[in-house]
Amino acid sequence: MNVLVLGAGQLARMMALAAKPLNITIRAFDVGSNQVVDPLSTDIVFGDLNQGIEFANFITAEFEHIDHQTLALCQASGKLRPSSQAIKTGGDRRLEKALLEKCAVANAKHKIIANQADFEQALTDLSLPLILKSALAGYDGKGQWRLKDKAQAAATWADIKAFFDGGEQGVSHAVVAEQMVAFDREVSLVGVRDSQGNTQVYPLTENHHSDGVLSVSIASQADAALQAQAKDVFDRIANELNYIGVLAIEFFQVGEQLLVNEIAPRVHNSGHWTQQGADTCQFENHIRAVCDLPLGSTALVRPSAMINILGEDQVTHDILQIASTRLHWYGKSKRPGRKMGHINVSGDTKQQLAQRLVQLAELLPAAAFNELKPYVSSYQ
Ligand code: ATP
Ligand code: MG
Ligand code: MG
Repeated sequence: MNVLVLGAGQLARMMALAAKPLNITIRAFDVGSNQVVDPLSTDIVFGDLNQGIEFANFITAEFEHIDHQTLALCQASGKLRPSSQAIKTGGDRRLEKALLEKCAVANAKHKIIANQADFEQALTDLSLPLILKSALAGYDGKGQWRLKDKAQAAATWADIKAFFDGGEQGVSHAVVAEQMVAFDREVSLVGVRDSQGNTQVYPLTENHHSDGVLSVSIASQADAALQAQAKDVFDRIANELNYIGVLAIEFFQVGEQLLVNEIAPRVHNSGHWTQQGADTCQFENHIRAVCDLPLGSTALVRPSAMINILGEDQVTHDILQIASTRLHWYGKSKRPGRKMGHINVSGDTKQQLAQRLVQLAELLPAAAFNELKPYVSSYQ
């Protein structure tokens, strides 16, 4: 069986690693070069998208910001899973908010802003502080503005106006203004739905960000009521989209309530721990769903954590001396802030995992250590 992935980054690569033992071949469409490559060797396999579509039994995506012409071509082949509509919804916050409203799931109070009048109205209808997010362009906390008090309003509008004017011509630009949520913590739910409508979800994962980029994710047996709340949201959204594959939902937890932040119609960075902490990892389950194979169990095997290796982080193979610690490099050239790889760590108990994270923190450079320290101390 052959699968074409739209996007040729680390997520396509990890899908290929998981698909190999199933005798499934993954090819990846690099949207930058318009070539189809082997995601493991990065060798060019086909010179254009059409040959990749022809080759594939099924097509999927590793990111949501794919141009609509490419999506339409793939959708027309009848092979695309999840659908182009699901992928577009993840890439446009206007469609995403409409979906959340339709599914009646709780989310931050918000307003869509396309012009100055909308912006003025948002200042009346919503209470500060606000976070304003580009409808089309955001990831890793980019394309966002924060508005703390009314005195900054004119300057913030000027920034957003310049952003609209500098954007692609002929596209309707907008931002979504959201009330800042005073959350207790951020969690995400990664789950999978097959073409028959069966769904399975992994345990809720706690996420820590630094400068808008995911830094640490940690998963253990989740609180049953919270997990049930998250699973209900997952089922509503996945069923509404008639979704096939892995879908991630990011939440803000406020007391016992979960508010949806955003969805990602793909395998997700906060699910990388499943490579060693769950019965079947998210990459394999995504491929299984896309290829109409039976889903694998999403049960937690051991409490596990994932630490992103960003940009210039100095991480050496010394960390492998810590038990149940694995390194995953993506084979990318270094750029500041870029996701270069990740570390997975597991323990038989939460306490053992915490001890291993402390050991790991000692071997990591100062920045990463400081990220981990408060987390580890709160977790023991
Ligand atoms: P990514 O897709 O990489 O997860 P993104 O660029 O789509 O990121 P968001 O997830 O929307 O951005 O926001 C990034 C982070 O900013 C969130 O994880 C959260 O920490 C903070 N944030 C976003 N929206 C709100 C909000 N309404 N209230 C409080 N914090 C927020
Ligand atoms: Mg996002
Ligand atoms: Mg996010």
